[in-house]
Amino acid sequence: MKYEVVKNYYDGEFTPSMGAETLEVVSPIDGNPLSKVSMSTIDELDAAVKSAKAASGGWANTPIKERVQVLFRYRYLLEQHSDELTELVSEENGKTITEARAEVEKSIELSEFACSMPQLAHGEVLEVSKGVECRTEHFPLGVVASIVPFNFPLMVPNWTMPNAVVLGNTMIMKPSELVPLSVVRMTELLKEAGLPDGVFNVINGGREIVEGICDHPDIEAVSFVGSTRVAKLVYKRATNSLKRCIALGGAKNHLFVLPDANPTMTANDVTASMSGCAGQRCMAASAMLAVGDVDPIIEGICERARKLVPGENLGSVISKEAKERIEGYISQAEKDGAKILVDGRGATVNGKEGGTYVGPTVIDHVTPDMSVATEEIFGPVISIMRTDTIEDAIKIENANPYGNASSVFTQSGGMARYIMEHASAGMIGVNIGVPVPREPFSFGGWNQSRFGANDITGKSSIEFWTKLKKTTTKWNPEAGINWMS
Ligand code: NAD
Repeated sequence: MKYEVVKNYYDGEFTPSMGAETLEVVSPIDGNPLSKVSMSTIDELDAAVKSAKAASGGWANTPIKERVQVLFRYRYLLEQHSDELTELVSEENGKTITEARAEVEKSIELSEFACSMPQLAHGEVLEVSKGVECRTEHFPLGVVASIVPFNFPLMVPNWTMPNAVVLGNTMIMKPSELVPLSVVRMTELLKEAGLPDGVFNVINGGREIVEGICDHPDIEAVSFVGSTRVAKLVYKRATNSLKRCIALGGAKNHLFVLPDANPTMTANDVTASMSGCAGQRCMAASAMLAVGDVDPIIEGICERARKLVPGENLGSVISKEAKERIEGYISQAEKDGAKILVDGRGATVNGKEGGTYVGPTVIDHVTPDMSVATEEIFGPVISIMRTDTIEDAIKIENANPYGNASSVFTQSGGMARYIMEHASAGMIGVNIGVPVPREPFSFGGWNQSRFGANDITGKSSIEFWTKLKKTTTKWNPEAGINWMS
């Protein structure tokens, strides 16, 4: 194996898991085994929570300006090790080197944002009547948890860890069992940056550990990122044991393409959005609402899609099961009467026969009742639905249960404004294929793409990771008493 067996991390030490079940970590690029990861036991979760709890008081009492120094060093180390991290992210997830580099850069940006917390999370004070002041202060919650998915092995852990930790919490991280290696390296860099033992802890595992986190009496808050099916389970279970919870789920992002859209830019952006990271992004374009005659743009998308070559400028999908699921959706659409303009089924890469690839796929004349129109496919596939009016397009978008992102391509300000107002999604783009808000703006969808209040990153995350203390003081100036009286 290229990498040693993945260990848990608590009390500042990497510890082999006692879990009886062990999974192979396989690179989807070529199917070669990279490492092994054990499904940890509940006793091991307990040990990690004890470690986080023991560190909690000391860390919370460390002034934020000191806590943030660790993050400055961590951010520097991410930059120093960016080539190696890029390679690792690509190896375990299957995305291209360019995409993996962008993920590392985004992780650096996220830690930079956390470094600005002393400027953002300092509370407020106001004299509300003569001699009476009200003030607010952000207090850490204590031990918090972060459960993450496979598709961004380094970035999603960096959505949560930097902000939660700088704000004075101690954390249990549960990586995806499919891609646990980037978190190992992240942990080593945090230790090198001087993070005190117990502030950050890692427990590997699957469903049993996630349920254990939701139930654990000493964990105050749970953040989850993954599919909607699991997000619902986690949100219900964590809030049922009276924890604070934010659970981000899956997505079905709609792009509205209007006839006045800039053809070159639109074809470039739609193709990049549906195929980037092999479509395994919760912000990927998955459905296109073609309003009126946009045939030249659809031709442009097909032309660009045909230039994407699996194993070269298109990465792999995560597993054999994922490949089968995605290809199953395409076959179903064909059976249902849709027209496959570009077909990515059966893609293979010479010399990497063990890899799991799906080529870019453009499906036209999809109707709103087909499964490729309603469900998350999570592969490099775009389903094109044609409508005559913007109202019909909005109806289709609004009827979808998800609500992560939506974008409009048009050169008309009025039309763009109309879609911005009427699309039912938390993140909207105008002439942008992947409208991810960048720091300090926060990330989070609507509807079944997010359960719970607040967003997971940016300023909004301060509310999630802290509790607010409101203090009212009266200094009694009319008594004229001071220490000299
Ligand atoms: P997933 O839901 O299968 O797994 C996410 C996490 O939950 C993993 O750590 C996994 O070990 C754990 N898990 C899996 N099944 C479980 C169960 N039955 N009970 C408890 N825990 C369980 O998601 P995934 O396949 O790793 O990631 C892809 C999904 O994540 C897609 O749906 C994608 O849209 C979504 N995602 C959403 C966002 C967002 O911001 N909304 C961001 C990234 C990914």
